[in-house]
Amino acid sequence: MKVFKFGGASVKDAKAVKNVADILKFFPKENILVVVSAMGKMTNALERLTDAIFYPAKNAGDKKEDASKVLAEIKKYHFDIIEELFPSKDHPIYNEISNTFVELDWAVDDTPTENYNYEYDKIVSLGEIVSTKIVHAYLKEAGLNSKWKDVRDFIQTDNTYREGKVDWELTQTLVNEHLMTAIKSPLEGDKRDDGAIIVTQGFIGGTSENFTTTLGREGSDYTAAILAYTTNAESVTIWKDVPGVLNADPKWFDETKKLDQISYQDAIELAYYGATVIHPKTIKPLQNKKIPLLVKSFLNPSEKGTIINEIQSPLPIPCFIFKVNQVLISISPKDFSFIAEENFSDIFNLFSERQVKVNVMQNSAISFSVSVDADERKLPDLIKTLQKQYRVLYNDNLELITIRYYDQATIDRVAIDKKILLEVKSRYTVQLVVKPL
Ligand code: ASP
Ligand code: MG
Repeated sequence: MKVFKFGGASVKDAKAVKNVADILKFFPKENILVVVSAMGKMTNALERLTDAIFYPAKNAGDKKEDASKVLAEIKKYHFDIIEELFPSKDHPIYNEISNTFVELDWAVDDTPTENYNYEYDKIVSLGEIVSTKIVHAYLKEAGLNSKWKDVRDFIQTDNTYREGKVDWELTQTLVNEHLMTAIKSPLEGDKRDDGAIIVTQGFIGGTSENFTTTLGREGSDYTAAILAYTTNAESVTIWKDVPGVLNADPKWFDETKKLDQISYQDAIELAYYGATVIHPKTIKPLQNKKIPLLVKSFLNPSEKGTIINEIQSPLPIPCFIFKVNQVLISISPKDFSFIAEENFSDIFNLFSERQVKVNVMQNSAISFSVSVDADERKLPDLIKTLQKQYRVLYNDNLELITIRYYDQATIDRVAIDKKILLEVKSRYTVQLVVKPL
């Protein structure tokens, strides 16, 4: 069996959904597990809806959006797509999606519980439920052998809402029970020589109490990896609007090159440092079972794309990863004693409690510096707390540039017109925190 993951851009309108069906038709005899994200930017819209519902409780006053208006927008977006895909208004999908949206009507009308993250998962997860229902109905309409599965029946997490931790053992058992049997058992009226297509949701999971969780933003790639691992799939393909993995984000770089093949190790490093093509948690499960990961263009499905597998060779060209909106924080003891183990554990605890992710760090005898993403909701409080014990300096509006397989020429090239404030080198990777001049 193959696992295909279709992200938001690949199902963003009716034409895109039709294209998904066309791609699947290229593989008539195969069993394919199709993992789908919310359509287009619907996850962002559902986040806005959650905020609009919660805002009065959180912070009365400015920026409050009208929840019913946001919900109306969300409904319209989906029904526009449905109308184009299913011209007959009698099609059952109309009722099915209306019924699914009732949950959001309730969310808008009811008083939310105090638990923002819990409510967030309940609301935002519906993006994936709705998109998979539409895609599944269309695949059937297009003559494909599609079954719809609720991923919450087999991907089990703890109740860390918005960042659910997967219970791998339980997930494996449930995948065997619910998913493998669905792949093996033919549908009614099935032409048995056709492969089965199973459509399920990315990004979401369920808890033992049947609550919905999400796995963290952009988590659908991770879902594809979890399901590939637990079904021993032969490969995973992520269908994207780019030709494959490039050596830099075209948003920041003019002359990007596509990489044909990447080792698991390099892919993990690139994703970890912030290359956004693949979610960082995706590679490890695939590497453990040696399942290849393909990144291909849904616009040119017959092109080769990029393959991530077991090769050992390093990348033939340097890769560049840019992160903007960085804040460099330098922490030193007030009495000018050394920065030592007890300070580190102290400092790291504060960062982890406040869920501030350290992108790069460096220490000297009397100071410790970290670069983190600017976040108005988290940083001011963190800095204030640190200042009780330490002397804290910070510098914002910086960029973090990571170069994998660097040499001096590549450093000079990215540092042009920039002042380097921090430089951390390992054998293959350099990270630079820079200030534009
Ligand atoms: N729809 C979710 C998000 O936008 C998950 C994903 O796209 O991977 O974060
Ligand atoms: Mg998405």
